[in-house]
Amino acid sequence: MGSPVKVPKYMRKKEKLVKRLQTKLSHAPKRTEKYYKVLNSLQKTHYRIKCQRNDFLHKEANKLLDSHNLIVHEKLNIRKMLMRPKPIQDKTSGQYLPNGANRKSGLNKSISDVGWGKFLNILNYKANERGKGIIGINPYMTSQACSQCGEIVKKSLSTRTHQCPKCGFSAHRDLNAAYNILRLGLESLGLEFVMPPIIGAA
Ligand SMILES: [Zn+2]
Repeated sequence: MGSPVKVPKYMRKKEKLVKRLQTKLSHAPKRTEKYYKVLNSLQKTHYRIKCQRNDFLHKEANKLLDSHNLIVHEKLNIRKMLMRPKPIQDKTSGQYLPNGANRKSGLNKSISDVGWGKFLNILNYKANERGKGIIGINPYMTSQACSQCGEIVKKSLSTRTHQCPKCGFSAHRDLNAAYNILRLGLESLGLEFVMPPIIGAA
C-alpha cells in the first residue's frame, strides 16, 4: 500500500478551453473559413484531452504494477456513482430543497476526469500480461467497517476520518477502507491479512 495518487487538474483547464471554442463556434457563421478553423481546434482539443488522459492512466498502472505483485481493488459501480441525487421536495410548500446535486456533480466530474472504469480495464489487462495478481472486491461496508476490529462505524461522505470508538483505531477513511479491501482480497485467496505499518494515520 502506497500513497494516494494526485489527479492532474489539466482536464479542468482544457474543459474551459473546450467551452470557449464551443461558444466561438456557435457564433461563427456556418460554412465559412472561420467556422471550420474553430471546429478544427475544437476537435484537436478533444483529441489532446483523450491522449493526455490515456497517457496518465497507463503511467499510473505501470507504476503500480512495477512495485506490486498483487493488486486488490474495489469493483466500482460507475453508473451508480454518476447518478444524480433525487430531487427533494418540501411537502408543505412544494418547493425544492437542496439535495447536494451541485456538490455531487463536482464529485462526478472528478470521477469521470480520471476515468476509473477505464483505469481498471487498463490495470487488469496489464496485470494479466505481466502475470501479476489482480482481484476486484465488492466494496460493500468497506468504508464503514473498522479494518482493525470489524466494528461498524457509520460515517457520511463528508467525514474524512475513520475513528473507531471500540478499539481506538484512527485513520483517513480511504486508508481504513483500503485495509478492508486488502483483507477481503487476501481472504479470497486463503491468505491472512497482516497489518502493514501505518502510513498517513490520522
Ligand atoms: Zn475498531
